[in-house]
Amino acid sequence: MTALVIAEHDNASIKGATLNTVTAAAACGGDVHVLVAGHNAAAAAQAASQIAGVAKVLHADAPALAHGLAENLAAQVLAVAGNYSHILFPATAGGKNAAPRVAARLDVAQISEVTKVDSPDTFERPIYAGNAIATVQSADATKVITVRATGFDAAAASGGSAAVESVAAVADSGKSGFVGQEIAKSDRPELTAAKIVVSGGRALGSAEKFNEVMTPLADKLGAAIGASRAAVDAGYAPNDLQVGQTGKIVAPQLYIAAGISGAIQHLAGMKDSKVIVAINKDEEAPIFSVADYGLVADLFEAVPALTQAL
Ligand SMILES: Cc1cc2nc3c(=O)[nH]c(=O)nc-3n(C[C@H](O)[C@H](O)[C@H](O)COP(=O)(O)OP(=O)(O)OC[C@H]3O[C@@H](n4cnc5c(N)ncnc54)[C@H](O)[C@@H]3O)c2cc1C
Repeated sequence: MTALVIAEHDNASIKGATLNTVTAAAACGGDVHVLVAGHNAAAAAQAASQIAGVAKVLHADAPALAHGLAENLAAQVLAVAGNYSHILFPATAGGKNAAPRVAARLDVAQISEVTKVDSPDTFERPIYAGNAIATVQSADATKVITVRATGFDAAAASGGSAAVESVAAVADSGKSGFVGQEIAKSDRPELTAAKIVVSGGRALGSAEKFNEVMTPLADKLGAAIGASRAAVDAGYAPNDLQVGQTGKIVAPQLYIAAGISGAIQHLAGMKDSKVIVAINKDEEAPIFSVADYGLVADLFEAVPALTQAL
């Protein structure tokens, strides 16, 4: 029984969610291998070989694999899939794009957003926006799984010494091509990896106010900035900052929610945070039901005062 983790990487380094996925793979009970499919990605393969608990790294290298196009990545996974009992992807935008293609071609049922491995064939996953946990047993020969990173500790990025084995790269499927990318440059920690997240909601009222009130607090705390969907939909914050059921799932050490009501779809993305602080002028706001510390106050006074006090 061997599990294959599909690494998320930028050809030079391994992205954080891969480490949590390695922990989930190890819980499946057998050896853990990692596939690094990329272009000029020797550094990423080398980094994967250092991850504690990894027994072998498969490295497929070709221009068609440079940008993680789902069609080519899925084909690469399928080329090696026969050797594996479990194939695990991080439940990121990239993983969720490739995994169903692999599951469909293997004619197995994908097990999505796994948060716990009970045994090699039994997994737990949240349903109804995290309001219930389903325990799923799979009889399929190959388990194709997406892993919710917040459900598993990250494996240590160093300490391992796995062998790196080159595998033949698949041909370009030609079904999609890479056109370009715009990467938002920020000195802030990445939202899903940040230890502290400060999030603003609809109450901020405008993009200018969102920036004016939330950014200094984030700067003081070295935090990532998040937002509710209402704030994103209203254009107060960019789309990639959305936390929740249809946004990012975060579980930082500290989550500060300012002017966010606490709809279940928002809670689904942050309620596993270690310490939750809510600032809301409505004492009945549902966010207080999950908050460790609640402040009933006007955020336009409370947040600047907090920033100044820090
Ligand atoms: C299928 C689906 C998926 C969804 N996915 C997501 C998701 O991923 N993420 C998400 O966030 N939402 C999601 N939503 C939307 C969700 O239901 C809520 O509409 C949204 O979270 C509300 O955002 P909000 O809390 O910022 O706004 P509101 O609900 O309008 O809350 C604003 C809060 O600010 C408080 N407030 C107002 N003025 C002040 C002030 N001056 N000082 C302090 N507090 C103040 C109010 O008391 C209120 O509690 C989804 C909805 C659906 C149907």
